Parts: sequence; structure tokens; C-alpha cells
Amino acid sequence: ESKKQLIKDNIQSYPDFPKPGIIFRDIFSILHKPDLFSVLRELLTATAKSFKVKPDVIVGLDSRGFLFGTIVALDLHLPFVPIRKKGKLPGPVITTTYTLEYGTSTFEISTDSIEEGKNVLIIDDLLGTGGTLEAACHLITVLGGNTTGCLLVMELTELNGRSKLTCPVKSLVQY
Ligand code: 5GP
Repeated sequence: ESKKQLIKDNIQSYPDFPKPGIIFRDIFSILHKPDLFSVLRELLTATAKSFKVKPDVIVGLDSRGFLFGTIVALDLHLPFVPIRKKGKLPGPVITTTYTLEYGTSTFEISTDSIEEGKNVLIIDDLLGTGGTLEAACHLITVLGGNTTGCLLVMELTELNGRSKLTCPVKSLVQY
């Protein structure tokens, strides 16, 4: 718990970014300090190991989910698969469009990246409304994978993003 508090204490908040009324939580303030990044890595990997269903694959979400997803994938010696914004992935992809606080966005995953029946742990930096994770879960379902968990560094609990998700969700720090 004290390690989680240490991380929370060092995540810098920026009021009115990217627009008035939004408080932006900047995870890069942790990555600036290697000692804190190590603590965060330890917490993420331990929490990833604590899900009841063990993942076969780690999926990270464009773009900050790549920073943490790749670390956990290496620590657990599991394959890492990216979900990317439209137009970034080569080869055949499947696509989904989802709603954000401001407008819409489109996610893609490579069709051959997850085998049918594989258990997937999704990793991203922050859970807000849950729209982003919901879209990611949808792509994994279309490929025949099972999303068995979602892991976030931060969660904005008042937005109740968990209610959109059917799998177990764990976050390290809550606002
Ligand atoms: P949701 O779809 O759950 O509303 O929003 C989650 C997505 O928005 C995540 O991919 C996350 O990167 C981004 N996001 C929204 N607000 C913040 C914030 O305050 N800090 C950071 N680091 N990411 C945010």
C-alpha cells in the first residue's frame, strides 16, 4: 500500500488539460525517475500475477499502454500484442470505432495476433469512462480470445468505467 501511495504522490496533475475542467494525470512524471519507475514495474507485475485466470497474452493499448504492457510481458515471459490507432498496423487488421469524451476514435488489431481460446490481460495507463477498454475487449472477442483481466495504473472511479467491463479490473491508484 505504501508503494502505491508513493506512486500516487508522484503522479503530477495538470488542471485544465487538454481542456478546461479536465485534470490530466501525467504518468510520465513517474518515468522521469528510474527509482519510481522500478517501483511501478514491481507493482504492475505483481498485480498482473494476482489475476485468478493466468493470461497467455498481454495486450497493450496505444500508446501509453505500450510502456507498461511490454514491461509486464517481459517480466511474465508472455507475448505482447499492441492494439493501435487506425492506420498504424501493417497487414490484415480488424477495426472498431468507439466514443471518447470528445468525438470518436478507431482501434485496430492484427488478425493473426491472438489465437482462438487464448486468455488475454489488457494493460493501459488509465481507466476513465471505460470506452477505450470496452473497444479493446470487443476486438479481442472478435478474434476469439477471452479477456480475463484489465490492469491500469490509474482509475478515475467517479466515471465508473468498470460498469462497462465484464472481466476483473485492477488499478494501482484511484482518484
Ligand atoms: P476512457 O475511454 O476510459 O474514458 O479513457 C481512457 C483513455 O484515455 C486511456 O487510454 C488514457 O490514456 C486516456 N486518458 C484520459 N484521461 C487521461 C489522464 O488524465 N491521464 C492519462 N495519462 N491518460 C488519460
